[in-house]
Amino acid sequence: MSAIDRLIDALHGHGVRASGRGSWRARCPSCGVRNNGTLHITEQADSAVLVCCFKSECSAEEIVAAVGLELSDLFPPRDSHGPRGKRRRLLTDREALDMLDHEAHVLVLVASDIQRGADVTVEDCARLITATARISYLRQEARS
Ligand SMILES: [Zn+2]
Repeated sequence: MSAIDRLIDALHGHGVRASGRGSWRARCPSCGVRNNGTLHITEQADSAVLVCCFKSECSAEEIVAAVGLELSDLFPPRDSHGPRGKRRRLLTDREALDMLDHEAHVLVLVASDIQRGADVTVEDCARLITATARISYLRQEARS
């Protein structure tokens, strides 16, 4: 099952609906507000899924936990044939550090925009959430 199908399934009962090509809206399962459009869901080209709460700025981790998923469920499965039990790591140490370095740069760029008083766009918000999700994912990878 793809990451997006897993999330859409899990959001059943939270008013999830398509809002465009590769994007969906739903009620945020974490902050539970009534508005059906607070949670923005986007499937990226690499099949990873972005979630962004525009009401309470819930973290991606809080959002997926509220529907019984983990952050790793937002990323495409790459090792569906492996043995059960200890999961094979998906990244080498070098790849993980390169990704961490890249995401750290994204955070610094947005932080410097904020510091300069520049507007933070919806895209910036979504990118920050992606960066946070990727760093959390790297932490999970390092522990596996
Ligand atoms: Zn929320």
